[in-house]
Amino acid sequence: MKFLKYTFFTIFVLVLLFAWLFPQFLRCFFVEYDSFQKIKPNIFVEEKTSKMQQDSLLKYVESAEKRIESFWRSKNGQAKIIFCKNSTTYQKYAKTTEGAGFSIGTPLGSWIILNQDGLNVDVIAHEMCHDELMTKLGWWKTKKEIPTWFDEGLALMLDYRFVSTQDSIQRFIDYRTELSYLSPVSISLKKLNTQKDFFGQGELFTKIAYFTSALEVSRRISLKGKKEIFSVINKTEKDGKFEF
Ligand SMILES: [Zn+2]
Repeated sequence: MKFLKYTFFTIFVLVLLFAWLFPQFLRCFFVEYDSFQKIKPNIFVEEKTSKMQQDSLLKYVESAEKRIESFWRSKNGQAKIIFCKNSTTYQKYAKTTEGAGFSIGTPLGSWIILNQDGLNVDVIAHEMCHDELMTKLGWWKTKKEIPTWFDEGLALMLDYRFVSTQDSIQRFIDYRTELSYLSPVSISLKKLNTQKDFFGQGELFTKIAYFTSALEVSRRISLKGKKEIFSVINKTEKDGKFEF
């Protein structure tokens, strides 16, 4: 009896700890019991989402999956997609009003939260790329080893909102040009290692941070090909150490 009591107590403490570490986890986990409807396995939409929006979402998810498969050669991420029709709902789930999409990764599951602006293939492919990297490396290694600039720079390779060209050299040149419009000097990558560094210093800083990150990743791809990026990721997976 005593043993049972301790087991229950331990489970209770672990659940509390988990909810404290990942505040959005419980909300996302129980999305079906909120005002959401499952329209496909792993895809949820807020109630009163029009049929047209539901169809667009399904179409964009399919195209984003194809983009992931073509870049990563396969898609292994299983993030659930949550489409929020209202911005207040988005804020509730993503804990931010910023952006069009937001990824939540925990050791027990991943979710991609989208708002109305997230109804496009670029945003979905971008968020899926974050999930793909975390799926490949696992939650702990991603959090511990992957600098935010690499995670974001890589996601931008599948997100054509800012630079749309598919040619690797042209993509690098275009990112360099875009960055030069924003700032005469790029930010040192050392200053973009954490989410706080990247997102916590104002809108313009974050924008420069995105372009700086995309420039670095696209530079490497233009010089040595996509395989070089995967060798960095595979090495991180094997040795537990990120080196770019
Ligand atoms: Zn991102």
